[in-house]
Amino acid sequence: MKQFKKINLAFLPTPVSELTQLTRYLDGPKLLIKRDDQTGLAFGGNKTRKLEYVVQDALSKGADTLITGGAYQSNHCRQTAAAASKFGLNCKLILNGESSVEATGNLLLDRIFNAEIIEVRDRLEREAALKQTFNDVKSKGGKPYLIPIGASDPVGALGYVYAIEELMMQNIDVDWVVLGTSSGGTQAGMVLGKRLFGFKGKILGIGIDDTEENLKRSISDLTNKTAELLEIDGGFKGNDILVNSGYMESGYGSFNLEEQKVIKLFAGQEGILLDPVYTSRAAVGLMDLINKKFFKKDETVLFWHTGGQPAIFSDTYSSQIIASFSK
Ligand SMILES: *Cc1c(COP(=O)(O)O)cnc(C)c1O
Repeated sequence: MKQFKKINLAFLPTPVSELTQLTRYLDGPKLLIKRDDQTGLAFGGNKTRKLEYVVQDALSKGADTLITGGAYQSNHCRQTAAAASKFGLNCKLILNGESSVEATGNLLLDRIFNAEIIEVRDRLEREAALKQTFNDVKSKGGKPYLIPIGASDPVGALGYVYAIEELMMQNIDVDWVVLGTSSGGTQAGMVLGKRLFGFKGKILGIGIDDTEENLKRSISDLTNKTAELLEIDGGFKGNDILVNSGYMESGYGSFNLEEQKVIKLFAGQEGILLDPVYTSRAAVGLMDLINKKFFKKDETVLFWHTGGQPAIFSDTYSSQIIASFSK
């Protein structure tokens, strides 16, 4: 197996704790939480583990500029901007969606980290602008490094291959891992880490913004490519990837009433903050599956907190959270 170096960006291992109040309240399986919202880089989140490998790769290739993209409240972009600062790299972010008048939440943090922001309307324009920006930097004699959306490429996924090893070293028996899945690098890494280190738990992704069919294909594909990078056996198929996309009806970034309620449930029962885009949706899925008795009562379910809380402080989401208090 090939070995990869990484830079240090995260505080690891992230803690695991019991959700004792919530477990009692729901009267279902035993619930644990792994706090990757506490990875520590500029308010943390799951992209930090990926960036430890991705930025290492960029530096080893002599890059001077990181280029990536996402939505206005992208957690990935915020963590990339912070990582760029730490290693003296320029950072250019292509952001799509309705721009808020004021820079709030993650967008404010991007600005504090001095990232250059390029605004586009939608995901299609974003793809074109990523390429354009890459070529512009290159033609001016710079050394650009393009990080795909969510840092979900084989190098980024390595962060979650080793996150599974980390969880196993914490010596906790887990039957299920539940996480929010979007660009898929987190789950792909976990699935490969499960096989590589013999992790017994099943890994269930709650689809944030894509269908089960697409996610099974893209995540198994990325798992295979990551295995190839590590020079180990792949052969993963769509059905090796467990996903449930039953909770994304309202679309990416639209914050529905169930999600607002689950944020208040976690806050009220555990003093833990979920985010309005990913972990609240994943938690709605988790709650629903517990209600439907999908998990056995003697099983242990670990909710993998992937971060994202700075979005709470954005204009868009803070006003919706406030409005939900009266519902
Ligand atoms: C990016 C992100 C995810 C999804 O991770 P993927 O690797 O893109 O599937 C989940 N939660 C938060 C808070 C994120 O920022």
